[in-house]
Amino acid sequence: MKYDLLVCNGRAVDPSQGLDDPRDIGLRGDKIVGLGKNLDPLEARDTVDARGLLVTPGLIDCHVHVYPGVSHYGIDPDPNCLERGVTTAVDAGSAGAATWDGFRRYVIEVSATRLFALLNISSVGMVTGVETDPAVGELEDLRHCSVSAALETVEANRDVILGIKIRLSANLAADGRNELPALKLAREAAEAARLPLMIHTPGSSLPLSRILAEMRRGDLLTHCFHGHASGILDERGRVLSAVREAVRRGVRLDVGHGKGSFRYPVAEQAMRQGILPGTISSDLHSYNLEGPVYDLATTVSKFLLLGVSLDEALRMVTAAPAEVVGMQGRLGTLKTGAEADLALFELAEGRFEFSDVAGETRTGRWKLVPRGVIRAGRVVKRPEQTA
Ligand SMILES: [Zn+2]
Repeated sequence: MKYDLLVCNGRAVDPSQGLDDPRDIGLRGDKIVGLGKNLDPLEARDTVDARGLLVTPGLIDCHVHVYPGVSHYGIDPDPNCLERGVTTAVDAGSAGAATWDGFRRYVIEVSATRLFALLNISSVGMVTGVETDPAVGELEDLRHCSVSAALETVEANRDVILGIKIRLSANLAADGRNELPALKLAREAAEAARLPLMIHTPGSSLPLSRILAEMRRGDLLTHCFHGHASGILDERGRVLSAVREAVRRGVRLDVGHGKGSFRYPVAEQAMRQGILPGTISSDLHSYNLEGPVYDLATTVSKFLLLGVSLDEALRMVTAAPAEVVGMQGRLGTLKTGAEADLALFELAEGRFEFSDVAGETRTGRWKLVPRGVIRAGRVVKRPEQTA
C-alpha cells in the first residue's frame, strides 16, 4: 500500500504553491507523500471523500487562549481549534514563567492540537480576575515582570515557546504607569531570547508610535484593527505613518479578533489605504467563543466579505503563520514531505451576516464551514457524506 490515507475528490487550495485545483492527497504516517490527480484509491488503506469540499493545509491560529482552569479566558483547544480545522495554535500569553509548567504539562502535552506559546512577560500570565469584577491586571505590579525568570523558562522550552507577549492596556497596568517600564522589560527579554515580541495595544495610554518604536522585524502587532485608543488610524481615519514604517521594516500585523478588538470601519479604512494583515488570527477565548468570533474559519469569512481573495485569506492562516511559528515548508502547506495536517471546508454560498465586536454587521456571500480535519495523518473528524 502506497498510502495510509487518501483524501480524494476535493478542491485542493494551497496558497504556498499557488494551487487551487482538484487534487487527491496521499498520506503515509504523519507526512504528505502524494499530491496529484486521480491517485489510486486501491493503493490506500483508508480514504476520505472530500467531494464538494475545499481541502487546505491545517489552519494555523497564531493568537488563542487555551489554559482553561487557570486563566479565566481559557478554552479547550481540541474541540475549539482542532475540530474546527485549526491543527496548530499559538497561545498568546495565557501563561507566564510562574504558571508555565502547568501549561506545558496539562495542556500542550495532552492536546491533539499542535500547540505553541508566547510567554507572558508577567510571570503570572493571564490569571487576572474575572472580567465582571474590577480586573487585577498582570502588569499592576512590576515585580511580576522578571526578565531572568522569563529567560529561564524560554531556555527550558525552546521547542514550544516562540516569543514573548505583553498586553498594554492602561487598566491592566496601574492606570498606565507600568506600561512603558513593562514594555522595556518585554523588549529586553525578547532581545535576549532572540525571539519575537507580540504586543496588544487596545486601551494603552502610550501612543502607538511610541509602542512601534520598540518593535523590530518579525514582531507582531496583534489586534491590528481594534477601535480603542492606540489604534492604527489617526483621528481623520488615515493610517499612521509610524504603522507604514513599521510594516516596511518587517513588523507583522496580526488580526487577533477577540471580544473587543476587531472593528469593520477600522479594517475597511486601513485596507482601502493598502494596509492588510499579515496573519488572520482569532484571539479565541471564553468570552468570544459564542460570538462574535466562534472560530478561525468565521474570522476568515469576514475577510472574504471585506474583499480579500480566498487564496490570500487562506495564505494568512496557513503559509504566513507557518513563518511565524518557524515551520514554513512543514506546516501550512500541502507540499509532499510536509506534516499531514489537513482541513476540509465547505465554502457555503448564500447571504450570511457577520458581526464585529461592536455588533456592527456586514453581509457576506461566502462562509467557510469546517467539515473535516486530519492531524498527523489521523482522521480527527470525517466529513459527513451528503450524497
Ligand atoms: Zn488575546
